[in-house]
Amino acid sequence: MEIKSIGIVGAGQMGNGIAHVCALAGYDVIMTDISQEALDSAVSLIDRNLGRQVGRGKITEDAKSEAMGRIRTTLKLADVGPTDLIIEAATERETVKTAIFEDLLPHLKPETILTSNTSSISITRLASRTDRPERFMGFHFMNPVPVMQLVELIRGIATDEPTFKACKGVVDRLGKTAATAEDFPAFIVNRILMPMINEAVYTLYEGVGSVESIDQSMKLGANHPMGPLELADFIGLDTCLAIMNVLHDGLADTKYRPCPLLTKYVEAGWLGRKTDRGFYDYRGEAPVPTR
Ligand code: NAD
Repeated sequence: MEIKSIGIVGAGQMGNGIAHVCALAGYDVIMTDISQEALDSAVSLIDRNLGRQVGRGKITEDAKSEAMGRIRTTLKLADVGPTDLIIEAATERETVKTAIFEDLLPHLKPETILTSNTSSISITRLASRTDRPERFMGFHFMNPVPVMQLVELIRGIATDEPTFKACKGVVDRLGKTAATAEDFPAFIVNRILMPMINEAVYTLYEGVGSVESIDQSMKLGANHPMGPLELADFIGLDTCLAIMNVLHDGLADTKYRPCPLLTKYVEAGWLGRKTDRGFYDYRGEAPVPTR
């Protein structure tokens, strides 16, 4: 099946990046969110990010305006139903995602492929709540989407080969590289990355290091481009906590216990860059550590 149109549910950090790369690759994109503000800021961010690519000589002004012309937004979830492929990129909460898929079902074409950009939730379980588990899979982009090369493709237990091939074809057309992961909690990248971030928060919690010394140690000592706490703020502390909870519950191993300090930051609403405060405070000129 050839994919021509893509519906995106959720216009947050990931949704806007996914819309950006899909429109640039020539797909017709329709993006929905429960918040008009999220849709408006996603469109202006895409415009700005495409503008940056023009500035760097990566794409032409024409390619930018054609891509912008391919993106539509709507507050009505039903409007994304008639697309060929739907990529759900809403909040990382299973009840939110299952409600979205349930509400979408009556509006889908029989051949529409459903996917989720979830970082950790079971694809098989999400698929089982739909009428098409064989045409359902995980389509996991990395953040920031226009920059990161990898997409993890996760087959649920029932995912059929044509669905996998159609999704792999989309990844190829986006100019990205697919890694196939089995459907176990957090797949490959986050299974390895999140426990490291959680351990960095424990290191802070136990007073082994400060925010700055922990980040600096991993940048200069392990050659990581970003420190783990800086990276956690970039991903979103709520997303990090949600992934740790999925690992903890799904693998039933205490080594995945979320750090109480991570929970405390999330309870405070200090979710990282998206709320201007996390392990760093981003409200001033330069980020200032909050501990
Ligand atoms: P975000 O908080 O930036 O955006 C989520 C968006 O979903 C918000 O705009 C919210 O209004 C919207 N939303 C909530 N409920 C909705 C509903 N019922 N219908 C439509 N929209 C709804 O989150 P994000 O970082 O973009 O993450 C989105 C998904 O992508 C999550 O599943 C997350 O695990 C995954 N993901 C995140 C990252 C990352 O680094 N942030 C990386 C890979 C995958």
